[in-house]
Amino acid sequence: MKVQVVKKIIVINMVVVTLALTGCGNAAGPAAGSSAAEANADSNNESANTDSADDSTDDTENTNTTSEDYELLTREVFAMDTYMTFSAYGEDAEAALDEAEEEILWLDQLLAAESENSEVAQLNKNGGGQLSEETAYLIERSLAINEETEGAFEITVYPVKQAWGFTDENYRIPSDAELAELLQLVGSDQLELDAENKTVTYKKEGMKIDLGGITKGYASSRLADIFMKHDVQGMINLGGNVQVYGPKPDGSDWRVAIQAPERTEENTLPWLSKAASGSAALAGLDYIGVLETNNQAVITSGGYERYFEKDGVYYHHIIDPKTGYPSDADLVSVTIVSEDGTLADGLSTSMFVLGLDKASEIWSAHRDEFDMILMDKDGALYATGGIKEQFTSDLEINWIE
Ligand code: ADP
Ligand code: MG
Repeated sequence: MKVQVVKKIIVINMVVVTLALTGCGNAAGPAAGSSAAEANADSNNESANTDSADDSTDDTENTNTTSEDYELLTREVFAMDTYMTFSAYGEDAEAALDEAEEEILWLDQLLAAESENSEVAQLNKNGGGQLSEETAYLIERSLAINEETEGAFEITVYPVKQAWGFTDENYRIPSDAELAELLQLVGSDQLELDAENKTVTYKKEGMKIDLGGITKGYASSRLADIFMKHDVQGMINLGGNVQVYGPKPDGSDWRVAIQAPERTEENTLPWLSKAASGSAALAGLDYIGVLETNNQAVITSGGYERYFEKDGVYYHHIIDPKTGYPSDADLVSVTIVSEDGTLADGLSTSMFVLGLDKASEIWSAHRDEFDMILMDKDGALYATGGIKEQFTSDLEINWIE
């Protein structure tokens, strides 16, 4: 059985910042034992004409500083089972990065269903309970996204995720009978949230929730809030889930590249249809395209990120709550662009489950809230009209209007 975990690769400011985590699947928390993991993060050290902020101790100079007077400081952290990079510039950048790092470690501890002591694990053990501000907010948002996606975003899918072994790397294919049984425990309507008193009750014994489909987007928006509080600007990259806050130090927009579906170790693309996986246009493609932005989250979901293979069939970690199987819709990659990182993450997971037509339909009703970049199994590229001025690609773009 082959296992692979791959995270997206991002180009920022024409400097390639690779954040690749490859090797044996390491689904259970930020385990230090990811022996085959490989991180290669080239820090941003472009801007030739940036002065170091440390140089300016003179008051007059300080009052006249522009963003170009600040150096972009970068911090690397491993949390939420992925490599992360935070970059900030401004007077208070160092303090902002310290606080960002503390925040991410704290959120990881609070929210990881796989860590025994997390709040989510305790809720799962006790069938609900009292909620922190953060967990109450995330469950509330998750329930709203569940409604907007006709049930595709489903945090109660955790027992099914466990059965497939995505929580502890004991990968297996559950029988149909087992899945049918577990699906009885899946359904957001069986979660009773009291938002005012911040409690949740699981109406069926054995139910478990998993905020993994929304945590990183939420975390990046919390970090953007920290940047705002410290009056600094920069970029947050949580394993390929990117949020930018303000422009680059030189005033231009960040360039966020969307990684093309990753190849397997055998250099194949089993996520694509046979014709598409042999297509010349996709053969050497590293990036689906590049999005320029200075104020949005750019969050991608794809089946090639975390999967196992058995008897030539590939099973990935995004579950269709209706079937209990890894979703088999017509998309291979879904990127959501939004100022709301939490929404972007929840939608990236659920639009992947819903497929092209349904995703387009939902976008039509919510076009002020987000945009999408989608690749289907035939290798065709789609993007929604709201990012026409921001998104470019070497491939032909089918615009959804
Ligand atoms: P990642 O966080 O790995 O970049 P996603 O945001 O797409 O990718 O989240 C995938 C995770 O979401 C899964 O590992 C699982 O924990 C959870 N998940 C899987 N299927 C669903 C679903 N249908 N609804 C909500 N969460 C899901
Ligand atoms: Mg997601």
